[in-house]
Amino acid sequence: VVAGVEWAIAIHGGAGSIADLEPPQLAAYSESMEAALSRGARMLADGASSLDTVEAVIRMLEDDPLFNAGRGAVQNQIGEYELDASIMDGSDMGAGGVAGLRTVKNPITLARRVMDGSSHVLLAGAGAEAFADEQGVERVSADYFSTERRQRAWERARDGASSSGGGTVGAVARDREGHLAAGTSTGGLTYKHVGRIGDSPIIGAGSYAEDGAVAVSATGKGEEFIRYGVAHRIAWLVRDRRYSVERAAWEVIHSILQPGDGGVIVVGQDGSLAMEFSTEAMFRGAADAAGLHEIAIGREAKPTGGG
Ligand code: ASP
Repeated sequence: VVAGVEWAIAIHGGAGSIADLEPPQLAAYSESMEAALSRGARMLADGASSLDTVEAVIRMLEDDPLFNAGRGAVQNQIGEYELDASIMDGSDMGAGGVAGLRTVKNPITLARRVMDGSSHVLLAGAGAEAFADEQGVERVSADYFSTERRQRAWERARDGASSSGGGTVGAVARDREGHLAAGTSTGGLTYKHVGRIGDSPIIGAGSYAEDGAVAVSATGKGEEFIRYGVAHRIAWLVRDRRYSVERAAWEVIHSILQPGDGGVIVVGQDGSLAMEFSTEAMFRGAADAAGLHEIAIGREAKPTGGG
């Protein structure tokens, strides 16, 4: 990636195993990622803010039942949906997170309202849903989120199959003004305990953005990402230790976390991008003003240079 590009964006659609996906399903993921990436790239090229772009791209992926966010989210132990999301504006350290939502159609938009329309950073559960009503953010009934595929995964988990994540969505961007933003949205882990909250709504764990440093969105075993403050740790390595974004992402994913824990997408102040993961696959895409425009799933292609 050329240093100092005008705008840059990376998106992810979750890290994990793709062993149970057939080629047509993989193609459907790629197509959906491509649509979201193109939309984000177009917005940034047209001068949209990184914040608006991150929210718009994540909303598209939340509305797509393929992904474990918004419609198509996974279920907890008792078959209910509890959605988590966060967003951060690197230009002023504005941040918003929402956790344990049961009826909010687009959790990323409610996270943005927490940031813009409240004095708080994190709202959970019934209070967060009441805040959605105060803000006029759309709510839906639980069956809106439901898909046959997730129902089958829930039944397998209930019958003792190991529960897994995958399909979380996120985006990071640098806009033409040089501002950074990050966001993440998820249904969490299949068959999670009721009330379990992952890293995705936690600023500094699942999402982080700070102008002059990086924007980060994470996916994987949320407990580990919270424990090690993954998103903020990458920012610290870049800002205070002067690591490149690629080296910082590599270090945290491969030398602090365990193999299989997950992955991150990162954009630096100069628009440099990193997409690093230790799972079999991470649905991901990257584009920038210098002509980069790529979607990848497994390890075969590495859209950005080595760590
Ligand atoms: N990080 C998410 C969580 O722990 C899950 C995932 O990214 O697959 O809730």
